Amino acid sequence: MSEIPAYLKNGYITPEELFSIIPKPSEERLRKGPVAVPECPQEIPCAPCREICPTGAISMPTPNDLPIVDYDKCIGCSLCVQICPGLAFFMVHYVGDKARITMPHELLPIPERGEEVVLLNRVGEPVGKGKVITVVPREKTKGDTPIITVEVPIELAWEVRAVRVERRG
Ligand code: SF4
Ligand code: SF4
Repeated sequence: MSEIPAYLKNGYITPEELFSIIPKPSEERLRKGPVAVPECPQEIPCAPCREICPTGAISMPTPNDLPIVDYDKCIGCSLCVQICPGLAFFMVHYVGDKARITMPHELLPIPERGEEVVLLNRVGEPVGKGKVITVVPREKTKGDTPIITVEVPIELAWEVRAVRVERRG
């Protein structure tokens, strides 16, 4: 019997585990513009990301296969991030010494554009502060979840996968 992968036992996947399963976008591609990266390592019958992609960048021969993105075909439209019911698609864009991460945001309250937020890693631990660049409300997305883009220190590009809004007063 094959061993259960650590990410299934732990309930989250590390960047090292992720990039042992799918290719990592090159630094050149990450600096060119936002690129979508699926963090969906389980073979489940699901394919809305492949269906909605306007450029055919997401390959998945059958709905049970893992989504693999051709990063050169990805135009960074974010539709896969919007539609994914598993909240498993993210976009990453390197800009100078920052990274812009586009992610689904299910926690209330919804942050506002320009707001400073607490950056959370894959386990939900705070790892720093970042600035919200854009907010797309639920009613304007293809799915049922708002999506936000947050600017983070570049060294946290593959760690930050959620944010928390902390407002005083
Ligand atoms: S961001 Fe747009 S072009 Fe890129 S993989 Fe997702 S749906 Fe396709
Ligand atoms: S829509 Fe989301 S959960 Fe479904 S296959 Fe695509 S990445 Fe995975």
